[in-house]
Amino acid sequence: MRQSELFTKTRKEAPSDEVAKNAKLLIRAGYIHKEMAGVYSYLPLGLLVMNKIIGVIREEMNAIGGQELHLTALQDPAVWRTSGRWSDEAVDNWFKTNVKVGGEVGLAFTHEEPLTRLMVSHIRSYKDLPRSIYQFQTKFRNETRAKSGILRGREFLMKDLYSFSRDEKEHEVFYQEAIAAYRKVFRRVGIGEQTYLTFASGGSFSKYSHEFQTVTDAGEDTIHLCTACSVAVNDEIIAAQSACPECGNKTLTERTSVEVGNIFPLGTKYSEAFGLSYLDEKGERQLVHMGSYGLGPGRLMGTIVELLADEKGLIWPESIAPFKMHLVSLAGARGGDVQKEAEKLYERFMKKGIETLFDDRDLSPGEKFADADLIGIPTRVVISEKTLAEGKLEVKDRKTGAIALCSESELLGR
Ligand code: ATP
Ligand code: MG
Repeated sequence: MRQSELFTKTRKEAPSDEVAKNAKLLIRAGYIHKEMAGVYSYLPLGLLVMNKIIGVIREEMNAIGGQELHLTALQDPAVWRTSGRWSDEAVDNWFKTNVKVGGEVGLAFTHEEPLTRLMVSHIRSYKDLPRSIYQFQTKFRNETRAKSGILRGREFLMKDLYSFSRDEKEHEVFYQEAIAAYRKVFRRVGIGEQTYLTFASGGSFSKYSHEFQTVTDAGEDTIHLCTACSVAVNDEIIAAQSACPECGNKTLTERTSVEVGNIFPLGTKYSEAFGLSYLDEKGERQLVHMGSYGLGPGRLMGTIVELLADEKGLIWPESIAPFKMHLVSLAGARGGDVQKEAEKLYERFMKKGIETLFDDRDLSPGEKFADADLIGIPTRVVISEKTLAEGKLEVKDRKTGAIALCSESELLGR
C-alpha cells in the first residue's frame, strides 16, 4: 500500500486523557481511535494486525477440531434466567437495553447460555460427541475500570470456544489439547516466553481453572511464578495453594501480569440448566460435559505492544505485523531516479506478494524515519541517491536497530 493514500495520520502526542502505553502508541501511530473510555475503533493498520492475530488463533482452533460460528450480540433474558445469570446481582457488568415494542434485551458479555441452548437441537447421541465450537465475537461488559487502553474495553472482541464431551475423561483430553493450542498461539504471536499457564480457582466443578498470564508491568493481575517448571499460581488462590501445583516447588516469585486467556471446565452446570443430554451406547440418557475457552485478540494485541514496543514506537513480530516491509523512498520533491527506482522496486515487491507499505510521500527523511519507527513494521528498506550510487538498499531491522547495506536479492533471500 502507498502511504500517500493511507488515510490515517500519525501524531506526535497521544490524547491527554489516555494513560495506557498501548493505547497511546496505537493512537499516535494511527492503528486505533478512541471513541470514549474503554471503547476503541480499529483503523486500517490496526485492523490488519487484528486480522492477523485472528488468523493465528483461528488456525490453532481449527487444528484441534473447532468449528466456527457467529452468535448474536443481542440476548434474550429468558435464556439467561434459565441459568440464573440475568440478574444484576449475579452478573455485575451487563449492558441491558429496552426493546421498542416492550421487554428487555442484553448485550452479550459471554455466550455459554445461548450456545448450550442451541446445541440441544444438535446433540442427540454419543455419536454427536465430542464437539468444539467457537467464534470471534464482540462482547460488552460494563467494566468499572477502563484505563488500560485496549487491554480492558467495555466493548471488545473475544474468541470464545466451548467444548461438549461425553464425560469428564473425554473433556480432559480436549482440555489438554486446548492448553497446547493456546501455547502455540502465544508462541506464534511472539509472547510465548513471557506467558505462563496459571492455576486459578476452578469454581464449583473442578479444583482448578487455568489462565494464561503474560508478565508485564502494565497488567492488573498478580501471579506467583514457579521458575522451576514455568507455570504460575493466581494471586486469588495463593493462600490455598502456596506451592507450585505442578512440581511442588515452594519458592514462587510474585509478578504483575495480564490475563490474555482463560479456560475452565464447566462440568454439567449449563447442560443441566438447559437439558443438554445425549443417549449413550446403552441407550441411557447422560448430561453433556462442557468447557469454556476465552481469549481476547484486542487484549493480546495490547499486551504485545506493552511488551515489545520501545520509546520510539511499536515493534511487531513478523507473524502479525500489518506489513512485512516498509519501503521508504528518499526522493524528496525532485523525484528523479530515486523515485523511479523506488516505484519499480515497489512493483517487484507487489509481484512477489511481499506485503509492503511504500512511503512515497514528499516528506523529509527525519519525518519518514520517525513515522517508520512509530508504525513498527519489522523491516525498513531505504532507497536514496546514496544507496543507488552503491547499487544497494539500506535495510534496518526495527527490533534490533541493526542497519545493513544489501542487494535486493540478498534482502529477499534473507
Ligand atoms: P478480567 O479478569 O481481566 O476482567 P475475565 O476473567 O473477566 O477478565 P474472561 O471472561 O475470562 O475475562 O474472558 C476471556 C478473555 O477475554 C480474557 O482472558 C481476555 O483475554 C479477554 N477479555 C476479558 N475482558 C476483556 C476486556 N474488558 N477487554 C478486552 N479483553 C477482555
Ligand atoms: Mg478470566
